[in-house]
Order: sequence, then C-alpha cells, then structure tokens
Amino acid sequence: MKFVSKISVVIPVYNNASDLSELTTRLSQTLDGNFTEYEVLFVNDGSLDDSFQLLKRLALVNDSIKILNLSRNFGQHPAICAGFENASGDFVVLMDADLQDSPEDILKLYENITSTESDVAYTIKSSEEKLFTSRITSGLYHLVFSKIIGSNIPLNIGTFRMFNKNFLNEIKLYKEFNILYGPLMFFMGFKSTFVKISFNKRKHGKSAYTFSKRLKLAINSLISYTDIPHKISVYFGATILLLSISYGGAVFSQYFFFGSQLPGGNTLIIFILSIMLGSFMLFLGIIGGYLFRVYQEVLARPRYHIQEKINL
Ligand code: UDP
Ligand code: MG
Repeated sequence: MKFVSKISVVIPVYNNASDLSELTTRLSQTLDGNFTEYEVLFVNDGSLDDSFQLLKRLALVNDSIKILNLSRNFGQHPAICAGFENASGDFVVLMDADLQDSPEDILKLYENITSTESDVAYTIKSSEEKLFTSRITSGLYHLVFSKIIGSNIPLNIGTFRMFNKNFLNEIKLYKEFNILYGPLMFFMGFKSTFVKISFNKRKHGKSAYTFSKRLKLAINSLISYTDIPHKISVYFGATILLLSISYGGAVFSQYFFFGSQLPGGNTLIIFILSIMLGSFMLFLGIIGGYLFRVYQEVLARPRYHIQEKINL
C-alpha cells in the first residue's frame, strides 16, 4: 500500500558528482514504493564538477527528477530557496546531497510527522565525531536556536527535515536576502517533532564548508535572529562607563580626603583614550553590520537566478 501524499525532496548540489547516482537510486527506491507521487528537486548551485551533466542524464530516464540549474554558486541557502519556491508536494523534505543522511529515513520522518500531526519533523543526528572548530560553530548555533525558541532544544539538529505544505507556504513569505533556513524554521514556531536518525560518515570529497564559512554562518544567524550583539555593546559600554566613573571617583576622593597624588596625566589620558577608542570601534563595527544588512534588504535583490529548468 502506498501513502497518498506527494513528496518533494529538495537537494542543493555543489560538487556532489560522486554521490548523485547512489543518492537518486536510493531515493527513487524509497519513494517509488511508498508514495503515490514524488519529485526530487536538485538545485545545482554552480557546481565545478560533473554534477550538472550527471543530473541531466538521471533526469532523462526519470521525470520525477527535476533540476534547477542556478547561474552561478549562490550558496546553500539561496539554493534551498530556489528548491522551495519550485516544490509542489504535500510534504517537503530538505536534505544534503552528500549521503550523510540516509534517504530511507524519509519514511521515518513521514511516519513521525503524520502520527504526531506535526508541521515540521526535525532530525537529531546520532553523535558524529566532530572537529574542535566545528564544535565551536555548532555551539554558537545552538546558542542562537535556544535563544530563539527560549527553551532547551536538542543538540545536533541536522539539515535533514520534513514539513508540510502549509509550513512551506509560510516559509515562502520570508523574502529576506540573507536567508538562513536553520534558525528561520525555529523562529517560525509551529508544531515540531524530533526524530533520532543515524548520521553517516562522508563517503566522498570533503565538506563544502570551511571553518571560516561556518563561523560566518553562525555570526550571520547571531546578528539576524538575536539581539545578542547589540546587547553586548550596550552592556560593554555601560560597564566601561561605570568603571571609569568609579575610577575617577576613587582617585578624586583619595585626592580630596587623604591628600594622595593624582596619577600622572599622560598615563591616565592614554588609558582612558585606549578604552574609549576600543569601545567606539566595537560599537561602530556592530552598527556597520546592521547597516550593511539594511542596505542589502533595501536593494531587495533576487536571491538567486535560475539559468535552466529541467522536467519542470
Ligand atoms: N551546498 C550548496 N552550495 C554551497 C555549499 C554547499 O548547495 O555553496 C550544498 C551541498 O551540495 C550539500 C549541502 O549544501 O548538499 C551541505 O554541504 P556540505 O555537506 O558540504 O556541508 P556539511 O554537511 O559539512 O555541513
Ligand atoms: Mg554534509
């Protein structure tokens, strides 16, 4: 018996040629046998390898395989955006192309989301060995997520997830340029469920993300989804102000009541100036960060360009 739902699987692809055939085979085996209708939307995000040629060949023999070929590399999230805006299923699955998530687990997600009547099913990855640097960035991420929904959310949430059509339509209301689906989906709320799955080692190639790319992403979500950065600046500024006032108070009361000498003028001036300069720079940086964002959003540029659509 097949489930009467249409499933759309959205997969951003950036240099995943070595995994694409196995991925498509396992996906169609899982989906063909269990659902009345499905589509796999591959979004080729300017891959430098043979990914696009391979996808075209795969799409030739299976018209449930659909391809959106972006005009250049826009990044994982704009690519996901293109996929979401072209998905037509009752349920949408988001997954990576590197086979670290098992396509077979889509069934688990489907059973879970329908039995709990949830809008989103997130996956929790079984503990994977992580580099120290990835731990720093995922710790930052976790901080952001918990800040958004205000409660303890599980660590190790993966990209792999499923949500219903209603949730998809709500996602599409977000038109921001700097879109990041991880924090955004938590920000949106709705009824969520968490499914434990096993997370496989990467078979081919290496992660498209370097430490600096990951750090950028974490900082990006920190700025876009929390008020932590400007709070830091307010607290920092207030602390420095308080410290300098008490320092000044202490020096002057010593001078007036105990007749002590005032500290040497140059030392004092340089000390105060360096604190002020440091804090000004910091605050200017933070303001600049927001200003840049406002500028980008005001431009309201498209987040990606599709060069070619196949089977769509
Ligand atoms: N990806 C993309 N554009 C990019 C970088 C990555 O579309 O500029 C895709 C990539 O093809 C993969 C997913 O994003 O499907 C996650 O990338 P990766 O597996 O390298 O990251 P990790 O799993 O290590 O976080
Ligand atoms: Mg991966």
